[in-house]
Amino acid sequence: MPTPVSTIPNIRDALRATFRSGLTRPIAWRQHQLYQLARMAQNERELICGALHKDLGKPKTEVLMAEVGALIQIAVKSAEQLPEWAKTEYPEVPDWQKSWKPTLYKVPRGTVLIISPWNYPMILTFQPLIGAIAAGCTAALKPSELVPTFSQLLEEIVPKYLDPNAYQVVNGAVPETSKLLELQWDHIFYTGNSRVARIVASAAAKHLTPLALELGGKSPVIIDSAYDIDIAAKRILWGKCRNAGQICVAPDYVLVQRDKQDELAKAFQKHYKAFFPDGALDSPLFGSIVSELHHKRLTSLLSRTKGEIVLQGRADAARRRLEPTIVKDVADGDSLLEEEIFGPILPLVPVDSLQQAIDFVNARSHPLVLYAFSDNESLKQQLVSETQSGGIVFNDTVQQLSVTELPFTGVGESGYGYQFMKHTYDTFTQLRSSIDMPTEAEPYLASRYPPYSEEAVKALTAAVYMPIQPSL
Ligand code: NAD
Repeated sequence: MPTPVSTIPNIRDALRATFRSGLTRPIAWRQHQLYQLARMAQNERELICGALHKDLGKPKTEVLMAEVGALIQIAVKSAEQLPEWAKTEYPEVPDWQKSWKPTLYKVPRGTVLIISPWNYPMILTFQPLIGAIAAGCTAALKPSELVPTFSQLLEEIVPKYLDPNAYQVVNGAVPETSKLLELQWDHIFYTGNSRVARIVASAAAKHLTPLALELGGKSPVIIDSAYDIDIAAKRILWGKCRNAGQICVAPDYVLVQRDKQDELAKAFQKHYKAFFPDGALDSPLFGSIVSELHHKRLTSLLSRTKGEIVLQGRADAARRRLEPTIVKDVADGDSLLEEEIFGPILPLVPVDSLQQAIDFVNARSHPLVLYAFSDNESLKQQLVSETQSGGIVFNDTVQQLSVTELPFTGVGESGYGYQFMKHTYDTFTQLRSSIDMPTEAEPYLASRYPPYSEEAVKALTAAVYMPIQPSL
């Protein structure tokens, strides 16, 4: 059930009043909420798995691993590390400023809005919330209308575990989200596609609200022809099969040396057979496509490709099923290179050199992640320095998400703003600077007051004449 639009401003106002009341300030209170969130994921996991199976056909193991388990781990680790993160800092300053007590307070940004998508609805709603709770913010959560059973479930279970004065679920689609976006928030954390990101950013601009935009795009894979093609195929196919390719860091297309393309195609066929001996169409280990519209979009991309299908996936529109489909000899301008695929289709794009692969990547929007398979260290460094992407991963796919100590971000068209563990905490935290000038400092401040003596001007403008490193 959508949240009545007329009640949305009251929800924001109540969250703001809670923030002002100071309820969320004590570290122990925040830790309790984080542990409660972990308990919610643990205790309600059967309901969560059931809802995600109904909405997405998501395999239970995938939900337990990538959504429930990941959430519990991040919430517990964040609660444990929070006292360290939240410590007030006293930065090193020159001796003459020490008595001013320069201080860095870590303060919550305030009342925040978290808008999440349908593909990993659990982790993508709560991963940002963990940072917001840790930082001491109050928050409204807006889950996706494309996973209605799950979003409804959140409305029921969240208040049982988290303090409803501080955290509220708002359900609905465009009208409800538009109402939320009309209001002033102290931070907005949006995960989803870049078209809606532009709507969110425009709305935020009206209030000068700071933003994190966690978007997607076409994440390429480059394979060095000297690398073990069999292992590359296995690791790429595994990543591509997560949630039936509906993951922001899915390998989107593969740039492979022309003379290695057929070997790669054969390796994909072999590993597909090993993963799904009876095919993926009816496998409980393979997810469904989220909606009829997306199923149609994917089959239409396939019907228009000029490439050659080397792994033919079967489609069942009625059940929104689509098996992994691999297409070779895909060239610039092909339907499969138009937009983020976000489904189990993998185009192979033959290239004649590594430079051609780098040029291909650089001619497009900056991806969320660049994958490269190579054992050659200088080639890896060349990719680091000659390309741009949110992250760069060597010799595997998707697994980087489990390293929560590393910041996760996009760049350019794939978004901005950092998340995961302390990075999410930092996103929702303002560094509030302070100095406290002692009365006794007055004699040392004398030169700043007008009228200035010649000596005072000399002292006050000394930096203008300071020596600058002559050899650099
Ligand atoms: P979606 O359709 O569920 O939309 C995301 C949110 O935006 C929803 O809550 C929805 O209600 C809201 N929304 C939709 N239209 C709106 C409008 N006109 N005005 C205001 N709000 C609106 O999800 P999606 O965008 O299809 O998600 C998939 C995309 O998200 C892919 O591009 C994927 O790569 C990206 N993604 C990125 C990350 C990341 O962490 N970088 C993670 C997951 C998904």
